Amino acid sequence: MSVREIVTIGDPRLREPAREVGADELASAPVQELIDAMIATKRAADGAGIAAPQVGEPLRIALAEVDPTNRRYPYKPPIPLTVIVNPVLEPIGEELVMINEGCLSVPGLRGEVPRHLRVRVRYRDRDGAERELVASGMTAGTFQHEVDHLDGILFCDRADPRSFSTWEQFDRHHREGFVRRMEALTERLAREDGP
Ligand code: ZN
Repeated sequence: MSVREIVTIGDPRLREPAREVGADELASAPVQELIDAMIATKRAADGAGIAAPQVGEPLRIALAEVDPTNRRYPYKPPIPLTVIVNPVLEPIGEELVMINEGCLSVPGLRGEVPRHLRVRVRYRDRDGAERELVASGMTAGTFQHEVDHLDGILFCDRADPRSFSTWEQFDRHHREGFVRRMEALTERLAREDGP
C-alpha cells in the first residue's frame, strides 16, 4: 500500500466540496486503491482519520481508526477501521461538546471545536453496502471532523481562534484539563448509552 502526500491548509483542494462516488466507480480498482492508500497514509501519520481531499482527491470518502497505540491522540476511545463513502451525518439531540482537535492537514495547530455530542452517520462501506452508525463524544467529533473535510471545511473554521495552541503548548497547558474533561464525558456517556 502506498503512502500519499498529505495536502496542507492553503491548498485549494482542501476547500472544494467533494463529489459523490457512484457504485461502479466505488468498485473500480483506482478507487479501491485510493482507499488502501488513505488507510496507509493515515496509519503512517498516526492520525485518527483522513478524508480523500486530504490526499488531493475530490471524492466523498473518509475513514476513521483509533487503536490504543495511537501516539497522536492517546486519550481517544478506540475506533475500529471504518471507511465511510457518501456519508450523511445527522445530529442526535441538541447538545454540543467542546473538543480539542488537530488535523493532519493543519500541522502544528490545535483548537477547541464545538461538536454535536451524538450523531448518526449513514454511509456506504467500501464494498458498497448501506450502513449506519451512531457515535457519541470524541468519536462523534472524529466523524464530524472527517465529514467536514468532504465539504471543504477545516476544524480551524469552527474553532474559537482564541483557543488555538501549538501541540507543544497544548501538552504544557491544556492537555491535562482536556483529558480530565473527556474522561468525565466518556464515563457519563457509558452510563447513558449503556454497554
Ligand atoms: Zn482533518
